[in-house]
Amino acid sequence: MSPSTFDFVVIGAGCFGAWTAHELLNAGHKVLLLDAFGPAHSRASSGGESRVIRMGYGRDELYTRWSLRSLAAWKALAQRTQRLLFHQTGMLWLTGMEDSYLRKVRQTLEYLGIEHESLSVRELEIRFPQISAEGIEWALWEPGSGALMARQAVQALVAEDVRRGLEYRTGAVEPPSRKRGKLSRIVTRSGESISAGYFVFACGAWLPKLFPDLLGPRIFPTRQEIFFFAPPPGDGSFAPPAMPCWFHHPALVYGIPDLENRGFKISVDKHGPIIDPDTECRIANAEALAIAREYLGLRFPRMRNAPMTESRVCQYENTSNGDFIIDRHPELDDVLIAGGGSGHGFKHGPAVGDYVRGLLTTSLAAEPRFALAAKATTQARDVY
Ligand SMILES: Cc1cc2nc3c(=O)[nH]c(=O)nc-3n(C[C@H](O)[C@H](O)[C@H](O)COP(=O)(O)OP(=O)(O)OC[C@H]3O[C@@H](n4cnc5c(N)ncnc54)[C@H](O)[C@@H]3O)c2cc1C
Repeated sequence: MSPSTFDFVVIGAGCFGAWTAHELLNAGHKVLLLDAFGPAHSRASSGGESRVIRMGYGRDELYTRWSLRSLAAWKALAQRTQRLLFHQTGMLWLTGMEDSYLRKVRQTLEYLGIEHESLSVRELEIRFPQISAEGIEWALWEPGSGALMARQAVQALVAEDVRRGLEYRTGAVEPPSRKRGKLSRIVTRSGESISAGYFVFACGAWLPKLFPDLLGPRIFPTRQEIFFFAPPPGDGSFAPPAMPCWFHHPALVYGIPDLENRGFKISVDKHGPIIDPDTECRIANAEALAIAREYLGLRFPRMRNAPMTESRVCQYENTSNGDFIIDRHPELDDVLIAGGGSGHGFKHGPAVGDYVRGLLTTSLAAEPRFALAAKATTQARDVY
């Protein structure tokens, strides 16, 4: 048998693939990272301008711990690359009285010793006078959280690793032709054949196209729309340090302050219609804009007539309940799948990479929640 060219090939240079390649490289392996369109390109889920990193996950300790660990890794990346990749804006949760999810966030943060503070409506109004408290009963403040500059951060990570010995290539990998046994090699659309000891497929919303039988029924790519609005001229209260990242939990609306003068970002976290990431029209639709604008005017009265400066149409790659899929392929012995970020995966990139490395190179026990076998074929969202 001829020796493998690479120890590992990671297919997909979004957040999950880039951090997986990083961790495997750190462990001393020869790694190739491949992407059809380039790291954090404009249609990748990781290609957005910014992503929230928050610690709160209801009663869910696993994701809270992963966020905490990942935040340290993102900060270290920013430090090493001397780039402003994380803005510590704080995270503000807004809610009504009957929100058991947010009470559980508070309990989990308390239990894990993560800094937080409950705010009454009065305290909210004093601290954030640009936010209307209409319909809000209390708020939770995570001062250590904030926003990651998503596209820049993934691209900075890949560039850093290329300097350290990672091989990166642009190439579109064909769906595996073998159904079972060892895959041993992948073939790209341009006819290149690449062999390796192991293959990690971190292809986001494209995973169902690569493994249609296995993942077609288990990953649901949905259309999500994001809008940026210009703050009033000369008004700094919608940018840090005055404005934090925020999430109105019961309404499922969230936002990121005006970072790098790109505008005040707002989006609805509710899942949109199922889409195909290759053919979906990337022009925002008028109804989604009307919903975003209505909420903007209600919650941020000074932004009521703000001009929209940019819009983006992106996709979530949802699993049935929102837990990631990070598992070995059940039939292909040298293939692992890492995906199903489900609208909340970006922040966890470093923890995902570390977990994949642990599964592939150590005796780390697999987390049952990430198993393919745990994934249903109908959507019932449980993780936010
Ligand atoms: C609008 C929006 C807002 C979000 N907000 C947040 C947030 O605030 N906080 C948070 O933590 N998360 C957030 N998320 C979720 C997060 O962005 C995703 O979970 C995460 O980026 C997924 O990364 P990924 O690497 O799995 O996928 P992707 O970034 O999509 O990367 C997959 C890559 O695989 C490549 N690929 C696919 N097929 C092939 C092939 N055949 N050959 C070669 N390459 C291939 C693609 O080109 C792509 O680059 C949000 C997502 C969206 C869409």
